[in-house]
Amino acid sequence: MIYDLGNRQWNIPELRTLLEELLPQKKQITDFEVTHNFQSIGTRIILLSALEITREKKEEKLILLSIEDITDKKIAFKKATESQQRFKNLVENAPYPICIFKDQNMILEIANDSLLKVWNVDRESAIGKPFLEIIPEMKDQPFMGYMQNVFKTGVTYYGNEEPAYFNIENGQQKIGYFNFVYQPYIENNGTISGVMVLATDITQQVLTRKKIEASEERFGAAVAAVEGIVWTNNAEGKMEGEQPGWSKLTGQSYEAYQGFGWATAVHPDDAQPTIEAWNEAVRDSKNFVFEHRVKLKNGNWGHFSVRATPLLDADRLVQEWVGVHTDISDRKQSEIEINYRKALLEAHNEASIDGILLVDAKGKILSYNHKFIEIWNMPNHIVEAKDDDAALAFAMAQLVNPSEYIDKVKYLYEHPTETSTDLLEFTDGKIVERHGYPVIAKDGSYYAWSWTFRDITDQKLYEQRIRQSEAHFRTMADLMPQKVWTADTEGNYNYFNKCWIDYTGLDFEESKDWGWKKAVHPEDWEETKSRWQQSITTGENFEMEHRLLNTEGVYNWHLTRGLLQKNEYGISKMWIGTNTEMQQMKEEEERRSDFIKMVSHELKTPVTSIKGYVQMLLMILSEENVEMFPVQIKNSLFRIDHQVSRLTRLITEMLDLSRIETGQLELRNELFCINDLVKEAIDDISLTNPKHIIITHPEFVCNIYGDKSRIEQVIINLVTNAIKYSGNSDTVEVRIREAANNNVAVSVKDYGIGIDVSEHKKIFERFYRVSGRIEETYAGFGIGLFIANAIIERHNGTIALESEKGKGTVFTFTLPVVC
Ligand code: ADP
Repeated sequence: MIYDLGNRQWNIPELRTLLEELLPQKKQITDFEVTHNFQSIGTRIILLSALEITREKKEEKLILLSIEDITDKKIAFKKATESQQRFKNLVENAPYPICIFKDQNMILEIANDSLLKVWNVDRESAIGKPFLEIIPEMKDQPFMGYMQNVFKTGVTYYGNEEPAYFNIENGQQKIGYFNFVYQPYIENNGTISGVMVLATDITQQVLTRKKIEASEERFGAAVAAVEGIVWTNNAEGKMEGEQPGWSKLTGQSYEAYQGFGWATAVHPDDAQPTIEAWNEAVRDSKNFVFEHRVKLKNGNWGHFSVRATPLLDADRLVQEWVGVHTDISDRKQSEIEINYRKALLEAHNEASIDGILLVDAKGKILSYNHKFIEIWNMPNHIVEAKDDDAALAFAMAQLVNPSEYIDKVKYLYEHPTETSTDLLEFTDGKIVERHGYPVIAKDGSYYAWSWTFRDITDQKLYEQRIRQSEAHFRTMADLMPQKVWTADTEGNYNYFNKCWIDYTGLDFEESKDWGWKKAVHPEDWEETKSRWQQSITTGENFEMEHRLLNTEGVYNWHLTRGLLQKNEYGISKMWIGTNTEMQQMKEEEERRSDFIKMVSHELKTPVTSIKGYVQMLLMILSEENVEMFPVQIKNSLFRIDHQVSRLTRLITEMLDLSRIETGQLELRNELFCINDLVKEAIDDISLTNPKHIIITHPEFVCNIYGDKSRIEQVIINLVTNAIKYSGNSDTVEVRIREAANNNVAVSVKDYGIGIDVSEHKKIFERFYRVSGRIEETYAGFGIGLFIANAIIERHNGTIALESEKGKGTVFTFTLPVVC
């Protein structure tokens, strides 16, 4: 046996023995590892490689042997493997997620279960794969950036509470929160070969914390949302610590509200009951509900609803009390308002002349007033018990037609949108008007039915009487020879009598509205229309003369009058009108007027001539031979002259009258001084009326433009009247003064018999004379003032009087002044 040991060290019998053991079995050994305990060198691991060669010539066997002591290598390797395994074990068993990524592609080299669980992947499909292949959803999340940065810079990255989103089923994502470290592996040559990821899953903590935060926020929001202020008391029911809500509400200082100090802010009337109720709630650990008044910071009292509840711990012991004060001042105010309205409504109901019954949607009695009981004669026991069925039965028993009544009631209850007005006929003859209307809520549902009952028996009787009297009136009006019509207060015609219809040939339909226009002469129409409209608007009487057409096509003069009828309260009711034919009267008047004119003319000539002769005789008498004539003759002549003057004036007046009536009064206008004219006239009158003193007060001097003789006529008329009606007085005063609007006023004042106010207007009418015992002793025709008025009107002036019976009279006329 030849051992080529190559190395002296191995030249040892043990090795030979070992080889001898091994080799006979095999001709060749390659890389055979043997662990052997050498006596000389101890246990070694050796790597053998042996080859048996047979030398043919010498027939000897040779063994080629290579041997290497790999003990140290092996030990080092084993150590390394063990440490790696330990590390792996450590990683894999770590309770927190750990993994290692290799190179820039982030190939997952190692990952523990804890991490795989977070990622929700299995080991086989994950190890050796790039990160993004394992969890593609990380592509757009910040982790990739952090990691790449660590690979690039070699700087460790600490992530804190980073959220990560993982895809789960149905396209949903779930969130996880992590604290983590990205730790780079830096090789000796400075390159970064991998990154270890150490993560702590803090999802639960974060979510819990967030939940707490959210619930705290919600609680805060809830407190803020509570309408009112929130306070706390300790378990004994005493206020303790800062109570910002309470101090803000009441303005009480910290010291003031501690313990039971808060009660001093409660209204004195409410404080004691509050404390008692509070103590009771605290004693029994039960909710506290109360209402009281609290003095507010601004000094006013506010109404508050108080609610407090005890907070219990796990052992159900009171920890503290939480209370809320809610401002109910508005509600209190509304309660007061509602009570007030209720009282008003009740009073109103009771004061009503109608019976009022309120029933709910099902027909149950809600309320009624005493008039209701009175109308229905309802026994107390029924109404007080609000016994609907009994009330209905009782009501029906009193009606002539009960089934109609009940049918209508039923119908209305089923049709709550309708209202009704019905007449109920009672068996005792009473007639009651019933109104029913639903009480509808804003949302359209109906709450109740309101029934009102009004006893209209008297009214019905009254109506019947009215109808009868109206029928009477119509019959009467139809029989009248005059035309009669009626209209409502707005002038809408409702009746024309037979005479009107017969005369005009226009029946009611043709006459109504403005149909009667057809009967009015076209020349009179405009005035008729405007005056009638004026009367309708003002309610003043309508009176005018106009021509109306008859069926024969002839217009006859009529005096039409319309009077507005009023009831005893002065409320306008209707117009009643008449058209009285006055054609004949008109014609007669014309004839009379012509006659007067003619007579006056005829009289004027002889009277003028008589006057001339008398004047001549008087002249003769005034001369030297006056003694030849007896005094009586002279006096008689004076009297004749006076009477003839009166007669002349009368005839002049008659002629003036007919001139005025026919519009032929001519004025010869000129500029003259009114004061001079007044003086002249008074001088003349004084001559013939020596017994009277006429005093003039020329307080204003001016010119006027007009017919001097006509104005003089007016002055003479007024002064002679003043003298004529002076009674026992002998003084007349004439005053000339300035009047408003650049006018002059001439007034004639006497202290005579006076004129009653009721006559003031009438005395300016032609032929009007005041009748009376005293007045009738004075001669006259009642034309003077009519003419005076017409003259002054023609001069754009006014004439008026102030007088009372027995107290004298002042007539005043005004005329425009010319400067
Ligand atoms: P007469 O010719 O009747 O006086 P007038 O037209 O002048 O006519 O007057 C009308 C009526 O007015 C008189 O009848 C008289 O009753 C009344 N009257 C006029 N002036 C006075 C007066 N100064 N005092 C009292 N009554 C007077």
